[in-house]
Amino acid sequence: MIDISSLVRRNILELKPYSCARNEFQGEASVSLDANENPLNTPYNRYPDPLQTALKKKIAVLKNVRPAQIMLGVGSDEPIDLIIRIFCEPIVDNIVAISPTYGMYEVCADINNVEYRESLLNRDYTFDAGRLLEETDGHTKVIFLCSPNNPTGNILDGDEIRKVLNGFQGITVIDEAYVDFSTHPSWLRELDNYPRLIVLQTFSKAWGLASVRCGMAFASEEITGYLNRVKYPYNINMLTQGFVSEQIEFEGRKNEWVRILLAQREVLAEKLRQIPVVENVFPSDANFLLVRVTDANGSYNKLVKKGIIVRNRNNILLCLGCLRITVGTEQENELLINELKQL
Ligand SMILES: *Cc1c(COP(=O)(O)O)cnc(C)c1O
Repeated sequence: MIDISSLVRRNILELKPYSCARNEFQGEASVSLDANENPLNTPYNRYPDPLQTALKKKIAVLKNVRPAQIMLGVGSDEPIDLIIRIFCEPIVDNIVAISPTYGMYEVCADINNVEYRESLLNRDYTFDAGRLLEETDGHTKVIFLCSPNNPTGNILDGDEIRKVLNGFQGITVIDEAYVDFSTHPSWLRELDNYPRLIVLQTFSKAWGLASVRCGMAFASEEITGYLNRVKYPYNINMLTQGFVSEQIEFEGRKNEWVRILLAQREVLAEKLRQIPVVENVFPSDANFLLVRVTDANGSYNKLVKKGIIVRNRNNILLCLGCLRITVGTEQENELLINELKQL
């Protein structure tokens, strides 16, 4: 079996991570004079827990994983960047992703000067593991799969994903930002079976906490170890750690929101199908709909004039003529429908 360390960049393997005051002494102190903090203005004066112990305990219960399998980031965008930095030698190594997909994988690859390779989905947005694997070579360190995929909205077939997990010797990332909206189970339960798998989830979508910036990477302890060594020591601030911990108590409310949004998604899809300029509403496992219209740029601009902003995906491969529409409140969806009807 392939060793994770053989995939890690040499400079990261040899990295002596910054040892912060909070790392060197853990426990209850009555006098803290080790971190050059201001002794006044409790509790904001103290540096937060760099490994978010209390929050991870709660997430571990919520997700049925071990705390050591969790890394927390400033959104899941942070681990996307860290994964590329940890495994990919700039100029030499490459990553492979499906296309179209979430834009941050390519941006992070570009920033890190790592070659980004794309494997086009089929016309119906299904994906073919064999074709994707053909894009890989000895320098491919990471494959990014987004499921449910953004912007197409569909879940990727489990058997095809498994072919990637079994056939690829590097790191496979499955980005599950929208998993709460899907009836398909998370890949989290496969974590112990695939030591090179990283699953990304976030509090930004179903939990309604996009402004709070808290994302999760789940992986083997070895991989989370590297992620934790490379991240900024205090990436998740005290307010976020405490607030997310509180919010997890309201899982039932999150589930209720998901139920409402899924019902609205079906209502919206049905109404969209009856509008003359709408050619196709693609099936969705997420909280948005990809919709093909007769004139995407025209529709987009007219909606903007009415103060309704959707995502124009007209220029994206396989998304010609498409708008990506987030499921809003019942009232917001009605406003959108009424404007589209008048085009
Ligand atoms: C929204 C989204 C994210 C999330 O980002 P955060 O940084 O956690 O807010 C990640 N992946 C995909 C595919 C997304 O659509």
